Amino acid sequence: MENCLFCRIIQKKIPARLVHEDETVVAFEDINPQAPVHILVIPRKHIATSLEISPEDNPLIGHMVRVAADIARARGIADRGFRLVMNTNPEAGQTVYHIHLHILGGRPMHWPPG
Ligand code: 5GP
Ligand code: ZN
Repeated sequence: MENCLFCRIIQKKIPARLVHEDETVVAFEDINPQAPVHILVIPRKHIATSLEISPEDNPLIGHMVRVAADIARARGIADRGFRLVMNTNPEAGQTVYHIHLHILGGRPMHWPPG
């Protein structure tokens, strides 16, 4: 989508520190990290929120989670623990309307989250 920030990152019209790229997903460092490891995993397909995920996207979403787990292993936070977050709509703090899985780790994570 033309005016979507994350679509523009996928198209490399906006620079990002890429961590992983394949046919269906892209991962990159969050510009405003909230933990020592803070990486976003996004689908190449524009999906605005988790509410728009359809059954045909099941393999894609599964792949996003597996890529996130692989990145957590590669960054050495898998055994310590890490958090995967997908904020949905304003009250949850979603600011970019192209779904993204936050990988957060490298420090203790508190529960409940803020
Ligand atoms: P949300 O608040 O929608 O769950 O998460 C959006 C995330 O995107 C935030 O953590 C924010 O720091 C990150 N972000 C916003 N703009 C950019 C950008 O231009 N580049 C990168 N790498 N991250 C961004
Ligand atoms: Zn998009």
